[in-house]
Amino acid sequence: DAPIKQDFVRQIVRDDIASGKHTAIRTRFPPEPNGYLHIGHAKAICLDFGIADEFGGVCNLRMDDTNPSREDIEYVTAIQEDVRWLGYEWNELRHSSDYFEVFYLGAEKLIEQGDAFVCDLTAEQVREYRGSLTEPGRESPWRNRSVEENLDLFRRMRAGEFAEGAHTLRAKIDMASGNINLRDPAIYRIRHLAHQNTGDAWCIYPMYDYAHALGDAVEGITHSLCTLEFEDHRPLYDWCVDRVDLAGHPELLRPLTEQGMPLEAAKPRQIEFSRLNINYTVMSKRKLMALVQSGLVDGWDDPRMPTLLGLRRRGYTPASLRLFVERLGVSKVNSVIDFSVLEGCLREDLDVSAARRMAVIDPLKVTLTNLQDGHGESLEFPNHPKDESFGSRQVPFSNRLWIERDDFAEVPPKGFKRLVPGGEVRLRGAGIMRCDEVIKDADGTVIELRCSMDPESRPGMEGANRKIKGTIHWVSAEHAVATEVRLYDRLFSVADPDDNSDGQSYEDHLNPESRRTVTGYIEPAAADAKPEQSWQFERLGYFVADRQDHSPQRPVFNRSVTLRDIWAA
Ligand code: ATP
Ligand code: MG
Ligand code: MG
Repeated sequence: DAPIKQDFVRQIVRDDIASGKHTAIRTRFPPEPNGYLHIGHAKAICLDFGIADEFGGVCNLRMDDTNPSREDIEYVTAIQEDVRWLGYEWNELRHSSDYFEVFYLGAEKLIEQGDAFVCDLTAEQVREYRGSLTEPGRESPWRNRSVEENLDLFRRMRAGEFAEGAHTLRAKIDMASGNINLRDPAIYRIRHLAHQNTGDAWCIYPMYDYAHALGDAVEGITHSLCTLEFEDHRPLYDWCVDRVDLAGHPELLRPLTEQGMPLEAAKPRQIEFSRLNINYTVMSKRKLMALVQSGLVDGWDDPRMPTLLGLRRRGYTPASLRLFVERLGVSKVNSVIDFSVLEGCLREDLDVSAARRMAVIDPLKVTLTNLQDGHGESLEFPNHPKDESFGSRQVPFSNRLWIERDDFAEVPPKGFKRLVPGGEVRLRGAGIMRCDEVIKDADGTVIELRCSMDPESRPGMEGANRKIKGTIHWVSAEHAVATEVRLYDRLFSVADPDDNSDGQSYEDHLNPESRRTVTGYIEPAAADAKPEQSWQFERLGYFVADRQDHSPQRPVFNRSVTLRDIWAA
């Protein structure tokens, strides 16, 4: 059984159940469909859905689509796919825009209560009137309009009588508040824009804080988890929930219940936790969008992107990402997580779940002179060194092999344990080979090694156990399948690409080595991979069959992660 998680959010939920405050837990994951989800969102998803699961509750997926200018159905679809891929299923799929009519009725209620007014100040004036941290704001000259005038203007805003910016609806709270979010924040603005879900039905759109609070209340959310930057917004969140009071006014929900939408409004509680930040990458959707649009990466699913789609194509598994989030824990302290933690989680998962295969990605030709041409042999290899349930496979062996170029050194560096002229090395699972002759081209580049097998060292023979320092992997050149191998590395070469104190922007810090494409050779049983299947190529790392481009006839593998952390040194 999984250990019980003990973070502060789960403690609050546990206490709320123990005290009888809630009998059923409801959470939601509320992405704005203005881009693809990234690894930061995975943290929120695992928390929102994970807590609902652990406490026998439910979690909704809510498209927080209140800003039509940046939202698109493409993202709405992609977000659903990503959440399912991570392994979660929502209770209900909702859109904030499903609730626009309720939000509107809530705003009329605020106006009738004297809690909101239509303001004619321009955006610039609003900023001027708002004051600062050290200076109280000034009240809008439109703040004391009558309820009738406010209602009339707000209805005409909705009817489309006014240009963008001509009016806003503002909450009437406190221009002297120490919390600037409470200085009569706008709750509606005019936008003559089509919306991806509601089309042309609306030309006024609710602001985030108002819509978010009410959306949570509509859905009966008990614990509304969000990131720390919303801590200052919590008083406004509570104000919206309390003043509109959907739980106490079911009549406001009629536009939805009439459509048969099952609802049980409640008073939600907002709880903030720290955002996930990882070094060597950027995470804001705006910057990721810019990378895609400028062609600096190949798309949202580029295997170097920290998007869920990019990580997926890179070979990250849902289990590895869930493990990562679990390992991070949940707290209120912002920090930057080292990229290697993420890579470590992938290694940990794939070590257990990926079968082993042999591949050579920087090939050097070897001819075994004491084996016949056309010598064909089939060797049995276990598919996993630690797990017999993976079974075994046959690996063809012949007198022509490929080995890794850097497993041979004419002038070996100190401590080199692999093949040298006149020296011996173990060919994994096949026997011991001696290098008899080094063949070079006119430029002096080594192009072939002529070697011989120790006949007493073949599998099953006594001499196979002879002690030898180095073991290398190989593939039979007669049988190998040529493959495209994409060697991915970190997208940025500096730990904090967002740091622009040197006058450079994140685009200046792209790692020029973040992708290299080479042709390698793989054993036949590796070519069979289904798209998205991962192998450990022995001694090289974990590789995944590219989900778009791979086929057994024309294999394409992406390096997901090396076997060891090559950035640590
Ligand atoms: P970005 O700033 O990258 O555009 P966002 O916060 O605007 O992200 P949303 O679509 O609004 O993106 O986010 C949906 C949910 O995911 C929110 O609850 C948000 O707090 C959470 N979330 C977003 N980024 C992170 C992160 N880096 N770490 C943890 N949670 C995050
Ligand atoms: Mg957001
Ligand atoms: Mg955003």
